[in-house]
Amino acid sequence: MYYKENTIIFHNGKFVNAPKAVSDLYGQTLHYGYGVFEGIRAYQTSKGVKIFKAREHYERLRRSSHMINIPFGFNIDELIEVTYELLAKNKLTNAYIRPLVFCDPNMSLTRPNKVSIMICAWEWGAYLGDKQLRVMVSSYCRPHPKSTHIEAKACGHYVNSILASTEAKDKGFDEALLLDHDGYLAEGPGANLFFEKFGKLFTPQVGNILPGITRATVIEICRELGIEVREGLYKLSDLQKADSAFYCGTAAEVVGIQSVNNKSFVVPWNESLSKLVQDAYRLRVVEKDYSKLLVH
Ligand code: PMP
Repeated sequence: MYYKENTIIFHNGKFVNAPKAVSDLYGQTLHYGYGVFEGIRAYQTSKGVKIFKAREHYERLRRSSHMINIPFGFNIDELIEVTYELLAKNKLTNAYIRPLVFCDPNMSLTRPNKVSIMICAWEWGAYLGDKQLRVMVSSYCRPHPKSTHIEAKACGHYVNSILASTEAKDKGFDEALLLDHDGYLAEGPGANLFFEKFGKLFTPQVGNILPGITRATVIEICRELGIEVREGLYKLSDLQKADSAFYCGTAAEVVGIQSVNNKSFVVPWNESLSKLVQDAYRLRVVEKDYSKLLVH
């Protein structure tokens, strides 16, 4: 599903055939989840294929590496360039791009001497689908920021995400919602949360969440459209009293939340501020004008 016989990936400075690419089974990343990655999207725009916020993503990859002591010797301009080349070689236009920095064989619990990078891409539709989500509050909380650098997009953090998402799906929901260790709203397993109340948007502050690039884009869009956004510590009861809510992330884009623990939001999706943000985001990623959506 992710690659075919002739798919090309970028691996340590070279473009290689995906089915023939090899990695060491003694790698520290494979054994301990000690690696960092990114999720990026490219879109077909009227000016050709554009990687959305490529620099921000690769800068976060570098920050994530540094935060968890993984050496990052890659040049960001070069990474952006090879990513465009990778898309062209695979004839991809609307694509999801996955760079991964992974560590050499090392069975001890110490920083690696050498790391590898691989970048692959494939065509991927809306990660959480197009319809609004039925969300369940997870029995798992997000990792404590004193247990790890929660702002790093580290491989091992996704054990928590997989547990939460699987639990929600096993119980018949579409997705999980995780609280932080103090019981405040945090985020989804792979997306940030916003909710609407009194004509304003609210989102959990950074500190216990992955600071999403889509989250930052939503805040930018709202500033341009004259929608007030507040960042803070919010409780589940704040969300349950909200008018509408959405998840946002590179893979998920902006996706509406229909209900939390089977309690539905009151404002019809099409009349919500959340829907307006969804429309604006869809235009923004393909570099189309969304100023006509202004709501002053
Ligand atoms: N939170 C988590 C836990 C994520 O995995 C993601 C996806 N990277 C996000 C939030 C959203 O981040 P972004 O908008 O940068 O994709």
